[in-house]
Amino acid sequence: SSSHSSLVDFGNKHVTKGLARIVDGVIAQGEGSYLTIEDGRKLLDFSTGIGVTNLGHCHPKVSGAAAEQCMKLVHGQCSIAFHGPYLRLIEKLLPMMPHESLDSFFFWNSGSEAVEGAIKLARSVTGRQNIITMQGAYHGRTFGAMAVTRSKTIYSEGFHPLMPGVFTLPFPYWHQLGRAPDTPTAELSAFCLDQLALLLSQQSAPRDTAAIIIESVVGEGGYVPAPPEFLRGLREICDKHGILLIIDEVQSGFGRTGKNFAIEYSGVRPDIMLVAKGLANGFPLSGIISRKELTDQLKPGSMGGTYAGNAVACAAAVAVADVMKEERILDNVNTRSAELFTALNALRANPKLAPCILDVRGQGLMVAVEFASPVGTSPQDQFVNTSVPEKLASRVAKRCLDKGLLILTTSVYETIRFIPPLNISEADLAKGCKIFEEAVEEVVR
Ligand code: PMP
Repeated sequence: SSSHSSLVDFGNKHVTKGLARIVDGVIAQGEGSYLTIEDGRKLLDFSTGIGVTNLGHCHPKVSGAAAEQCMKLVHGQCSIAFHGPYLRLIEKLLPMMPHESLDSFFFWNSGSEAVEGAIKLARSVTGRQNIITMQGAYHGRTFGAMAVTRSKTIYSEGFHPLMPGVFTLPFPYWHQLGRAPDTPTAELSAFCLDQLALLLSQQSAPRDTAAIIIESVVGEGGYVPAPPEFLRGLREICDKHGILLIIDEVQSGFGRTGKNFAIEYSGVRPDIMLVAKGLANGFPLSGIISRKELTDQLKPGSMGGTYAGNAVACAAAVAVADVMKEERILDNVNTRSAELFTALNALRANPKLAPCILDVRGQGLMVAVEFASPVGTSPQDQFVNTSVPEKLASRVAKRCLDKGLLILTTSVYETIRFIPPLNISEADLAKGCKIFEEAVEEVVR
């Protein structure tokens, strides 16, 4: 309608150009797995607001708990006093922790802030400065988080200098290491662990290295699960040198991968675990989870934040934890995941599509399809050479949107990511997969 398009024009005029935008429209409402746009379009949402609305939009139990809390206490400042939802949330999270040593909690608003807090904690308790991060990593947009981000220069271009003291380790992902897609992860992991030994002897000595930060599943950088043997190798090296292991579960946590936390696939103990996104199903809330023995070394007042651990967000997160149990969300993730992999792998059986599909990977409902770049181009070309055609993955995503499916790409690779709601129905998942298949067929035709 014309009033809708004038609203969009108004937004384009007055909202910072620094934000990207995928849907040309104004969202009117979100309900379960669907978004309604003011112009009447109804979109099946496989983006979940970038892995956030894991229980669907406006889950009645979560929104209900938040509404109720709104009438009791909105802002209970965490440096002034405890508030009920903050403590109830810890009670709910304790039994979900991937290791019993994780018993000390600090809530903040965003994933980026959690990353900042983890760096501060690691530096403070080790008395060391340097942080090792992974090639392809994404940790956020504040200065410390930008400094440990390695997925795309768009996040830091023009914003330097960043936090100093960051070193980069190659990540065991075949494409990034220039290896064949079927290279065993054990081989890739062994290579990267050797590189870590070199890094610690050539660039950042253990006595200067506070922490290694890694996503259990690389998110923005391409949806690549960290191989368990790699994580176990990191744990061993950290133990040997007194380096802390920071596990970023911001995108992979709260059932997204079919377990409460993706780190459970390796059995590795994090020294610090970071959570956000799915934690509160859309309310701004993040967590820095560590062990009391570490956080007891902090001076009172050294951590804080006006809005940190907001009462409404915490109340919503308590409801999320309840719903995950009551609605057996993990079971649904694992059932739907098998269906999703079956549908995506079937595309590889289609002789027309098979040559375009390099990889289908992921865990649970954090799954990606990586396409081969058009002949004569590399996946990175888009960012250095604007004359190459638009990336295949972006064209597929746009085509999906035209057909009513909101789906996202990742990073510099030709990758589409599937992050549907964790409680999505069999029918809606199948519908999205069908749209995706049609879109791929039309784009590669
Ligand atoms: N870490 C990871 C793994 C993420 O995926 C993100 C967000 N995409 C962040 C940190 C930053 O979180 P936020 O956007 O809430 O600051």
